[in-house]
Amino acid sequence: MVRYQIEDRNVGDPKVLAAMRTVPRHRFVPERFRDQAYKDRPLPIGLGQTISQPYIVAFMTELLQLGPEDSVFELGTGSGYQAAVASMVAGSVFTMEIYKDLADPARERLESLGYTNVHASHGDGYHGWKEKAPFDAIIVTAAADHIPPPLIEQLRPGGRLIIPLGSPFSVQQLVLVTKDLKGKVSERPIIAVRFVPLLGH
Ligand code: SAH
Repeated sequence: MVRYQIEDRNVGDPKVLAAMRTVPRHRFVPERFRDQAYKDRPLPIGLGQTISQPYIVAFMTELLQLGPEDSVFELGTGSGYQAAVASMVAGSVFTMEIYKDLADPARERLESLGYTNVHASHGDGYHGWKEKAPFDAIIVTAAADHIPPPLIEQLRPGGRLIIPLGSPFSVQQLVLVTKDLKGKVSERPIIAVRFVPLLGH
């Protein structure tokens, strides 16, 4: 998976590649898809939601340039896979999921696999996680037609945010948002992607 799907597509950060080699993706997909866990595609995780394609998880993690002290917020826990990968290259990950029936199993899964620096909560991530802000990096794993203002507020100066922006029912642009040390926000489109829609708020 890592050599052909990820390295061959130019994700080169050794820490991200090591995380992708270590996190057991088969433990994050439903039993009946386990034999497909390492394939080059997203997979259903119930409630119409998906675990992202491995390459996209690796690419988004690399774009955030996470360091060992960084605190990360993720909107859209889903299976918990992206949170687990990010937790191996960051200091701590705070992740929020709007469906309780995904949030609870993901929290248990992350706990039982020993990801002690991931904190998973049930709620609408559009509003971020105020008590734990500010964050050095923010990952939005659901498609939105705008950047949720609370997430911009909760991004630390010097921080990075990655979000699929565009129509939730077609193709979106993965956009890298940066906030400089003076608080100025800039956006840079990266690649076309397809994510499930942002719900709630
Ligand atoms: N990062 C996940 C993939 C998630 S798919 C993984 O690695 O498995 C996107 C997830 O975002 C879905 O589980 C969906 O229920 C959730 N979601 C959508 N809108 C949300 C919101 N406003 N707040 C929190 N979670 C949300």
